[in-house]
Amino acid sequence: MLSAWNELVAVARRTAAEGLVVGTSGNVSVRVGENVLVTPSGVPYDRLGPDDLCAVDLEGRRTAGCLEPTSELPMHLAVYRHTGARAVVHTHAVHATAVSTLVTELPAVHYMTAALGGPVRVAPYATYGSDELAAHMIEALDARSACLLRNHGTIAYGDDLDQAYDRTAQLEWMCRLWLTASSVPGRTPTLIPQDELRRVADKLSGYGQKPPG
Ligand code: 13P
Ligand code: ZN
Repeated sequence: MLSAWNELVAVARRTAAEGLVVGTSGNVSVRVGENVLVTPSGVPYDRLGPDDLCAVDLEGRRTAGCLEPTSELPMHLAVYRHTGARAVVHTHAVHATAVSTLVTELPAVHYMTAALGGPVRVAPYATYGSDELAAHMIEALDARSACLLRNHGTIAYGDDLDQAYDRTAQLEWMCRLWLTASSVPGRTPTLIPQDELRRVADKLSGYGQKPPG
């Protein structure tokens, strides 16, 4: 469990280093068997060491560590209960949060929309850490691996921490792209049609290097 914890702390630090969160905003979790390792609430990531390991079961009962788990436990646990996720990243990335205040869905301005399952929805606002927010998020995540949280931020999941982090970074980048294109006066960005998004999703499943042999 300690190596998973070290990996989780590294990814949490990366969200701060790459400007996706400020201070103790955001949180990260990873599933290890029936346990979920989570960042503790309100602790700067650069202060986290091996002794701060914090784990809960899928019902949110503490299984290891003594620090208070993230206040967003309801969102993290809901993702693990409803999807095959192995890792979850929540941030307050600035362009994504800006977009969450403007639209109910991020327009498909780029083909990488397909990598997140289709146009990314915005979950209606609810107080941070609430079961209501977790319920809105689960609806917005239907057939998607990421969504925006209105007036709050992003949440993305994946097969591992790197994938959940990469999806978060892609989402923030696409939000920045849409804000940039849509801010040109008198012009409206072109969008990618549904059938092309489906073709891209197919093609992306074979993207990258083939395994040797
Ligand atoms: P925690 O410090 O409790 O993880 O909360 C940060 C946050 O982003 C709440 O939405
Ligand atoms: Zn938050």
